[in-house]
Amino acid sequence: MTIPLKYDLHCHTTCSDGSLSPLELVQRAAKQGVDILSITDHDTALAYQLLDASNQLPLKIIPGIEFSTEWRKVNIHIVGLNINPESDALKAGVAHQQHARKERAERIAEKLTGYGFNDVLDKTLKIAGNNNIGRPHFAQYLVEAGAVSNIKQAFKKFLGSGTSCDIKQLWAGLPQIIEWIRGAGGTPVLAHPAKYNLTRTKLIAFLDDFIKAGGQGMEIVSGKQIPSVTKDLSSICRQKNLFASCGSDFHQPGENWAELGQFSTFPADCEPVWKHW
Ligand code: AMP
Ligand code: MN
Ligand code: MN
Ligand code: MN
Repeated sequence: MTIPLKYDLHCHTTCSDGSLSPLELVQRAAKQGVDILSITDHDTALAYQLLDASNQLPLKIIPGIEFSTEWRKVNIHIVGLNINPESDALKAGVAHQQHARKERAERIAEKLTGYGFNDVLDKTLKIAGNNNIGRPHFAQYLVEAGAVSNIKQAFKKFLGSGTSCDIKQLWAGLPQIIEWIRGAGGTPVLAHPAKYNLTRTKLIAFLDDFIKAGGQGMEIVSGKQIPSVTKDLSSICRQKNLFASCGSDFHQPGENWAELGQFSTFPADCEPVWKHW
């Protein structure tokens, strides 16, 4: 009997909001038994430049990215898999989103300054330690400032959906994101569909727009999830004729629901996205 290869097609490094460098991440993934890995940092493919400098990786890499967009006032994430990070289309996408990230960071900092916090942007940029500043870095700032006791509370009170710092209108629109991914030779995949709190009707409406714009897949398994979610998502995936993907959405060690290579079983009745490459 042949043992199936283990795919983890969604995770993060220090190039966005993860805690491991690209090389550390690859090494941890290999230890966790991952055979094929896609690093999908938020709105950047910098990890692939950093990995290029080091040689001989212990597993196979499929280049990827996780783009942020807004659809009907909801923050939605689209993973681009099997992209060419060096393509003009991808570079144009990254440049646009990085600009949006910087502008968004300024607006978030203004809001927090309005609440009486000091030196917000400078301190948060230091926490980010790279150019790819995001809400988790602001959350860390708020924890360090003593405003909240943990990151979750920071999202709940200041940064998460429905709060004044949840600024999303700067992201490129869905058709544009899909065009960049397809232009880079990649496959657009809806990230973690169960994490947006969408009703089933709204999720289907999203998928219709996504497919119309050239979207091709959805994650039916994101980390450890309850079996009823996997069942629901795989049925929608089949119904919409989409390719199925899976990934841990790993950010840092210690979160056992999102550990590299550790996730719910991939349903046999869906067409894996990698069959198409
Ligand atoms: P951004 O890309 O700057 O919009 O930040 C989004 C990221 O914040 C997600 O990818 C998660 O890593 C993190 N995040 C979102 N919501 C929460 C939450 N409620 N608690 C902790 N982290 C969160
Ligand atoms: Mn993240
Ligand atoms: Mn995401
Ligand atoms: Mn992610």
